[in-house]
Amino acid sequence: MRQYRIASIPADGIGPEVIGAGLEVLDALAARDGGFSLAVDHYDWGSDYYRKHGVLMPADGLERLKGADAIYFGAVGAPDIPDHVTLWGLRLPICQGFDQYANVRPTRILPGVTSPLRDAGPEDLDWLIVRENSEGEYAGHGGRAHRGLPEEVATEVAIFTRVGVERIMRFAFDCARKRPRKLLTVVTKSNAQRHGMVFWDEIAALVAADYPDVTWDKELVDAMTMRMVRKPQTIDTVVATNLHADILSDLAAALAGSLGVAPTGNVDPQRRYPSMFEPIHGSAFDITGKGIANPVASFWTASMMLEHLGEARAAAALMTAVEQVCAAGILTPDLGGKATTKEVTRAMCEAIRGINLAG
Ligand code: NAD
Ligand code: MN
Repeated sequence: MRQYRIASIPADGIGPEVIGAGLEVLDALAARDGGFSLAVDHYDWGSDYYRKHGVLMPADGLERLKGADAIYFGAVGAPDIPDHVTLWGLRLPICQGFDQYANVRPTRILPGVTSPLRDAGPEDLDWLIVRENSEGEYAGHGGRAHRGLPEEVATEVAIFTRVGVERIMRFAFDCARKRPRKLLTVVTKSNAQRHGMVFWDEIAALVAADYPDVTWDKELVDAMTMRMVRKPQTIDTVVATNLHADILSDLAAALAGSLGVAPTGNVDPQRRYPSMFEPIHGSAFDITGKGIANPVASFWTASMMLEHLGEARAAAALMTAVEQVCAAGILTPDLGGKATTKEVTRAMCEAIRGINLAG
């Protein structure tokens, strides 16, 4: 039997609710499949840990995660702690420490889910957004001078390196190549940002020469938002910088029905370190503890994690169960339904027990 070690970091807000639901579903799936098992290490890192210890995770945190095959992450952020403290204290150190330079964000309209786009159904929107996850606008460089004075100045420096841009571009072309339509849109803002973004365009053209089977085009990020809304069918795989893809993927999630269904993987394609899988959404204080958090993003996240571990059959079965449950109208309030997190989770476990895993 194949065994995987999963590091679970549910962290804050609805994180524990949706990760708990995901672990339940993973258990049901492992029992049903019989070919693999998961050993889960639970970490209590996050805002509560910060209130007790003054840090979001211990100093040897990365060391402790190193042995995991994958990390299953909830969300971090609390109303009483500045967001940049929580983000830079937990999620970003893991992404950067493990060089998870590719952030992968699949989006589609699940059956039974209504898109805010009039007339758009599952066949109109099936995207894979690849976000550069290690540099760019979130490289953390910049500074402030003359604090509080009229002449105060702040800089936020975007950093693009040849290694960094080329590796995300290759990764995106590889992703596009594996998808049926083999289309890639390279998103920049190279009209206004004439250094880093022109650099992106140049590297895209260089890398594209190695992928004659992939059809690619370029789009400016502002025009891309319009294209996503007006011509979703023309989009397949997308690659963009850390900031641009952050924004585009929230829009994508909303167009697919809700932030509550959108998953993501922070991947080290070279597999030197564990990759981290998480719902895109945050800790959602407004609904924490109410039992109505949508666990679908967490389930889809779990499916991506299984796929990454090489359990393609179980990953596909999990998505089949998600589709069955959504199509049956067992939806949480963010999708217009009345179901609770627990009811959706129970329906998922039942669906998994009914799926034929043979073949
Ligand atoms: P959010 O994603 O937490 O919530 C935005 C809106 O979407 C809220 O109305 C929320 O109720 C709803 N929502 C989100 N996930 C849902 C789900 N699974 N089911 C139903 N509804 C859902 O974003 P925010 O309000 O901007 O941020 C809240 C906190 O989360 C902040 O501290 C922020 O820094 C943090 N955050 C963390 C991450 C992360 O850990 N990766 C990502 C985004 C935001
Ligand atoms: Mn975001």
